[in-house]
Amino acid sequence: ENFAVPKYLTTMTFFTGFMMLSTTGTSLVLFPPKDIAGMLRNDTESINSTSTDYGHIVREFPAAVFNPTSPNDIASLILFSNNNSDEPFRVAARGQGHSVRGQGLAPDGVVINMTALSKGSRIVVSESPSLGSYADVGGEQLWIDVLHATLDHGLTPVSWTDYLYLSVGGTLSNAGISGQTFRFGPQISNVYELDVVTGKGDFITCSSTKKPKLFYAVLGGLGQFGIITRARIALQPAPNRAKWVRLLYSNFSAFSSDQELLISTSGKMERDGFDYVEGLLLMQQGPLDLSFYPVADQSRIASLVNQYGIVYTIEVVKYYDDSTKDTVDKVVEKLTKRLSFVPGFMFEQDVSYEEFLDRVRNEEKMLQSLGLWDIAHPWMNLFVPKSRISDFDSGVFKDILLKQKVPAALILIYPINRNKWNGRMSAVIPDEDVFYVVGLLHSSGFNEWQAFDEVNKKLLQFCHVAGIMVKQYLPHYETPEDWKIHFGSNWQSFQEMKTKSDPNKILSPGQRIFNS
Ligand code: FAD
Repeated sequence: ENFAVPKYLTTMTFFTGFMMLSTTGTSLVLFPPKDIAGMLRNDTESINSTSTDYGHIVREFPAAVFNPTSPNDIASLILFSNNNSDEPFRVAARGQGHSVRGQGLAPDGVVINMTALSKGSRIVVSESPSLGSYADVGGEQLWIDVLHATLDHGLTPVSWTDYLYLSVGGTLSNAGISGQTFRFGPQISNVYELDVVTGKGDFITCSSTKKPKLFYAVLGGLGQFGIITRARIALQPAPNRAKWVRLLYSNFSAFSSDQELLISTSGKMERDGFDYVEGLLLMQQGPLDLSFYPVADQSRIASLVNQYGIVYTIEVVKYYDDSTKDTVDKVVEKLTKRLSFVPGFMFEQDVSYEEFLDRVRNEEKMLQSLGLWDIAHPWMNLFVPKSRISDFDSGVFKDILLKQKVPAALILIYPINRNKWNGRMSAVIPDEDVFYVVGLLHSSGFNEWQAFDEVNKKLLQFCHVAGIMVKQYLPHYETPEDWKIHFGSNWQSFQEMKTKSDPNKILSPGQRIFNS
């Protein structure tokens, strides 16, 4: 990764001003106000570490990195940008930099290192008669820290991501989805209130009743309208433990009908069903990760995968605590009895609630130790309407991936319910009551990601030709026309909100919606 750092960045020792390129290509030197000047850095390490992300595909250098100590500092920076009337500079909040296409970068602008805010008590658990239990959480906080702080009170958020080392502001700018989404909706459906510093530098508290337009625009708004500095998140009593089950299928339609049955929120299933429903593929061409399964069973699972080419796996969890520990096995047995997995291919682990939620951390540590974490990630995440999921299976999984032996690092597939999403939020989803999350989480060497990108393009092309109306999650588009199609009928209100909240279009330029 030998990218050249622009020379002027390495030569400045005292931070009195910083230099950036104007849109016309000339150099500008900006002198920030005294109260925030000391929070700006342009040393090589600061610049380098904020010039790429988890994807390691896009690299763009900011002119400076800002380390705020409070939301007021963020407002000052944004005002400074706007007051620089000839040429307001671009500003991107950086949560954990876990985007994969440069969405949190600020070419020639200023990256806000949100983690600088995390000192001090920025997670506070409270209760009110109208809301019940909730947590006020800084936008820079990691979900793992939210989990720990709330578990100390015997409480927990209800909706999660698979991986918890993501920032609250970063996931709320997208949606925040996982196996609990079918029941509780995404993380953005479980927020009562936000503090936001808009693109004009205004500090605004908003909710479904206070400045609701801004509130809903920011949820899933890809960082376009304001910087989230606090979120009030719904909590409920936390369970202690989890029965974590995987069921293997050789047949797609049996797999998807069972998944759809499991996420049905009508009647009993809503009350007594599983707490978490996801799914993943095991593919012949591998790499096969069988670490979940008992060693004694791994060879017969590998044989099943070899025999069918693809084995579809339903992953479900039933939480329990002391009051339900004697009945949980019976409940799991009852719920799985009517499912059509391959007989003898049901596997179970019994883990603590925290171990289950933090499960991806172990994979991260393992990949870190092998030097396989900081590599290129040409990921593609899609929402696929239920009515076409079987066509997607034959056209993408079987035809494109299996036949062409595309190495399948991790492919996730699970259905969720549209009625758990509020239509006023910015997040874009298909127009069907049930739709599937499909995550093609490819990993590749630094020079091979283009091959996976070709696969991504091919599958999008397949969907286009077949008329499968997919929507990208964590979207990445190259042209304004594509963004227009992505937002569909919401494009106009998205644009209007941008003009209102961030008229100079300075925020989150790495999304490339308003800055190509
Ligand atoms: P960043 O990448 O830093 O920022 C993302 C965008 O949000 C940028 O445009 C940025 O400018 C903006 N932003 C950041 N902070 C703020 C803020 N406070 N206010 C306003 N805008 C802000 N997603 C899921 O939904 N479910 C998963 O299970 C899941 N698993 C993942 C696992 C891994 C290993 C990785 C790498 C990602 C995963 N993601 C998942 C995707 C993740 O939710 C997004 O990439 C999210 O944006 C990452 O958060 P971040 O804090 O790193 O954000």
